Amino acid sequence: MFDHTSRISRLQDLMGETGIDAVLLTAGADMPYFSGYSAMPLERITAFVVGREEDPTLFVPRLEAPRVAKGNFEIVAWGETDDPIGLVVKRLGSSSTVAVGETMWSSFLLDFQSRMGGVEWSVASDLTRELRMRKEPGEIDRLRRAAEATDRVLARIPSEVQFAGRAQSAVAADFARMTVEEGHDRSWFTIIASGPDSASPHHETGSRQIEEGDMVVCDFGGIIDGYCSDVTRTFVVGAPTPKQQEVHDIVVSANVAGRAAIAPGVSCQEIDAAARRVIEDGGYGRYFIHRTGHGIGLEGHEHPYIVEGNDLALEAGMTFSVEPGVYIPGEFGVRVEDIVACGRESVDDLNRADRSLVEVG
Ligand code: ZN
Ligand code: ZN
Repeated sequence: MFDHTSRISRLQDLMGETGIDAVLLTAGADMPYFSGYSAMPLERITAFVVGREEDPTLFVPRLEAPRVAKGNFEIVAWGETDDPIGLVVKRLGSSSTVAVGETMWSSFLLDFQSRMGGVEWSVASDLTRELRMRKEPGEIDRLRRAAEATDRVLARIPSEVQFAGRAQSAVAADFARMTVEEGHDRSWFTIIASGPDSASPHHETGSRQIEEGDMVVCDFGGIIDGYCSDVTRTFVVGAPTPKQQEVHDIVVSANVAGRAAIAPGVSCQEIDAAARRVIEDGGYGRYFIHRTGHGIGLEGHEHPYIVEGNDLALEAGMTFSVEPGVYIPGEFGVRVEDIVACGRESVDDLNRADRSLVEVG
């Protein structure tokens, strides 16, 4: 169990430092982070209000109130004929600076804005990310368990999954099933991109038949106790061509260089540069068309982002992906992705699955 009360008090400290009177969260990852409660993202609003001093208040539709466990907040269950926005506005009182969750529906926000004149609105993630991107040991434990479960899936792939002659979607279903079999509560996503499709980093898995000679980018993840996994390996169906092997070797070297650069005090953009330099030196720089990584936790993509221009210095406890790739249009793509934590001195690898180019049938 996490200490939501201490998270709230740290948030209240940040509110004091930045002059925010109230934080107003609706469905999204910030709410469970601070309350332990995950709201249903529906048209009936669930709102979590944090003021600077007093205990928070959770406004929840009456029919969903039985889902709420006792927590560090007062519960207000609203009925079908109540005006929930009005109740929240009343609770916000004379707050003149309100930070709203970044996943709040625009319909809710417009309603709040029309009823509260003179308020200065901002995005709560400017504050919440300061806490959420610095993981507690219990969060890293969950991310490690999730990563280890995906490593076990990857270890089973060459012997258990047939690629050649099957649709990408059929192989994706195998990955999703094994993701759950290895301990995830559920699969979160699966990208299986074969042959020329692998040159599209976020290819939508489809009905294309996988063929002998295809490179197959397999990117997948699940959720364990609210925390995400996300890993990519690229397999080859049958023996690789010299070019497939060369590009894969370069991408693995970039992954290794990116992870080797990780240490407290090193900036996010330096990690990106360390990985990118290897691909540029290998002659494929123009085919590495995305940032090197993203933070991970309650959400699959969150701060910190490992990208040129982000001079945020890494700290022990930050967790993120290192996922360089090369995508050659019309030919093939390669990505090798691992989840890591920044340790006290160097990288703490959460994923450790084999990174070599493995042949599958
Ligand atoms: Zn991924
Ligand atoms: Zn990723």
